[in-house]
Amino acid sequence: MSDEESKVQQRSAPTMKRSGLLANALIALDGLSLGDAFGQLMSVRARSIRTVLETQGLPSPRWIHTDDTQMAMAVVEELAAHQAIASDSLAWRFVRRYQNDPGRGYGKGLRMQMEQIACGDTWQAASTAAFNGRGSKGNGAAMRVAPLGAYFSGDLSRVVSEARESAIVTHAHAEGIAGAVAVAIAAAVVTASRGSDVSRVCEELWDEVIARTPEGETKEGIVKARSVPRHMAPDFAARLLGSGFLVTAPDTVPFALWCAARHLDNYQEAMISTVEGDGDCDTNCAIVGGIVASFTGIEGIPECWISAREPLDLELPAQEEH
Ligand SMILES: [Mg+2]
Repeated sequence: MSDEESKVQQRSAPTMKRSGLLANALIALDGLSLGDAFGQLMSVRARSIRTVLETQGLPSPRWIHTDDTQMAMAVVEELAAHQAIASDSLAWRFVRRYQNDPGRGYGKGLRMQMEQIACGDTWQAASTAAFNGRGSKGNGAAMRVAPLGAYFSGDLSRVVSEARESAIVTHAHAEGIAGAVAVAIAAAVVTASRGSDVSRVCEELWDEVIARTPEGETKEGIVKARSVPRHMAPDFAARLLGSGFLVTAPDTVPFALWCAARHLDNYQEAMISTVEGDGDCDTNCAIVGGIVASFTGIEGIPECWISAREPLDLELPAQEEH
């Protein structure tokens, strides 16, 4: 490992000494980025993941993350810099990360928006023009938002407003925004209740997410997800709820919340079960990983998983302010 690599790894280490709000966001980011990388690696063998893990063990390092983590790092950097989401600033953080490393699996719609902004259009114009003027209802605003929920976990009203600000930069459609609000609230609730009785926290998660997610298709899916029994096999639940084959928020977030609630105190099992649902595996696991790690804390993530992940090139101020 080079000196530079070592420095980056040190900076992104989950044990990094950060206090308060940013520490919560960094735990969520660790859970999210590991989920992203694990889900992406295992997506080709999703239905047989348990057999693959039993016979072949974990994939060899390094586990490479995708666009989910790139965009989540931009959100965390924005929070560290401004202690809030400034949409103009966040848009340029997304663009810079995209330009520096475009081969991370960004969707076509997102790539078009990034190119538009880079060429001088406003993010507002790019976001509202997406999908023939309907705006994106994709799962991209939800996939990157768990650290934001963890950061503002003490104030659920603020979580809603900041999640909305973070979403509209790329997702102007109401469903794209609703997906981000739902995931951010889930991460906030479990962060605030870390260490409490898991059954009680699950009930609170569903209550608050359903109460605060705007009306629409995503919320209807979440209400349905709450009623799906925990003992149901993940691939059956995915059949009922969708698991991201459409890459939309309503087709992704309900199943991800069901997986997170089902294994809120077991990160590894949460990841394996989520992959069993197939679909948009990296994004499903990024959402679930961000939420579950926010409840378990960093000690809930297996050490060998953390060491397998590629280092995060996270740029943070030397000392954040709160
Ligand atoms: Mg991805």
